[in-house]
Amino acid sequence: MAETGKKKGLALHWQILIGIGLGIVAGIMLCKIWPYEEWSKYIKWAGDIFLRGLRMIVIPLVFTSIALGVAGMGNSAALGRIAGKTLLYYIVTTVIAATIGLTLVNLVKPGVGASLNLAEKVASVGSGNVSFIDQIVSIVPSNIFESMAKGDLLPVIFFAVIFGFFMNKVDAKHTATLSNLFTAIYEVIMKITFFIIRLAPFGVFAIVTNVVGKQAGNPQALLSMAGSLGVFVLVVWGGLLIQGGIVLPLLVRTLGRQNPWRHISKMSTALLTAFSTCSSGAALPINIRDSQEKCGISNKIASFVLPLGSTINMNGTALYECVTAIFIAQAYGIDLSLAQQVMIVFTALLAAIGTAGIPMAGMVMLTIVLTAVGLPLEGIGLVLAVEQLCDMPRTCINTYGDSCGAVIIAHSEGEELTI
Ligand code: ASP
Repeated sequence: MAETGKKKGLALHWQILIGIGLGIVAGIMLCKIWPYEEWSKYIKWAGDIFLRGLRMIVIPLVFTSIALGVAGMGNSAALGRIAGKTLLYYIVTTVIAATIGLTLVNLVKPGVGASLNLAEKVASVGSGNVSFIDQIVSIVPSNIFESMAKGDLLPVIFFAVIFGFFMNKVDAKHTATLSNLFTAIYEVIMKITFFIIRLAPFGVFAIVTNVVGKQAGNPQALLSMAGSLGVFVLVVWGGLLIQGGIVLPLLVRTLGRQNPWRHISKMSTALLTAFSTCSSGAALPINIRDSQEKCGISNKIASFVLPLGSTINMNGTALYECVTAIFIAQAYGIDLSLAQQVMIVFTALLAAIGTAGIPMAGMVMLTIVLTAVGLPLEGIGLVLAVEQLCDMPRTCINTYGDSCGAVIIAHSEGEELTI
């Protein structure tokens, strides 16, 4: 259990931070001596292997841990209670995040006077235009193997919950067989997770070098940062700081009765992984492991609350969608009524629920928010240049929000935590 790298001296989160720091330096230096397009392929592969390794374990981990967790709840009343609390927590915190974004962007008004010439072409942005009803229907998988193969987490979670629930309804000897089997698979996957996480400093170094190099080799993007886009990024970061530095820690303190700073420090590997990979899905295995091993949250809660959170609870994404939609309206000189702004908060909540835990997904879902209030979709081109800078912190807050939820729900279920 205590194989967390402590014995080797430098804790893993420090190693990851060093990886990020060296990646920034390497990205800038390499661009000075070599064009980005030529050197990036020699570095990028290491980051890709790390990310693929994490994604490789997500589906078996989520399936076995949820099925075990739900079966472990014993009865449907416990399942209903925990699910109810989880959804309530997710919806409330996401609406708070969206409202913070809305308030800040209205106060600072970064889009007023922004030059529309800076807009990049948006050909690469697909449409996130899926109706709400379609989203609900697609939670029920028509073919569970297809959903697993595609990495669609919500249908997999749905099936795992149903499976875990009915695991308790069969002959006791079958329940025991399945439970032993899933526990064995789960333990092996956790060992693999631990192995992959040890590669994090190298993976993160490669990812950051590549990202920084891409930006450093693009003077246009850097120039545009000097003006209103820079202020836009500051508003996004400011809002995320309020959510991640004040609102969520306060909830951990008051509702979870834990020291929020110690909690953040225990979760730092997961948070840094989310930050540098821009994927809360990739950070999920680490989040599950550290919530249990470092924070003492039971498998029952961690394996239900965290996978669900990584797909539907996106505080950072909702905040980003609100700020960006209103930034675009400001840049185009469009006045939004209060009703339209409330509509933005509501659709940002739905869009965040539908956003996958992968890089840039939130930007694609922005099309839903813009369409809902009739804002021009080309507006997305305005913020493309700074997408990476916004994706990193919002993914970190997405993952942190899930982790806070697990702490609060575990405490409300009377668990003794070790934070
Ligand atoms: N990258 C985010 C995540 O993985 C989603 C987004 O693009 O907002 O949580």
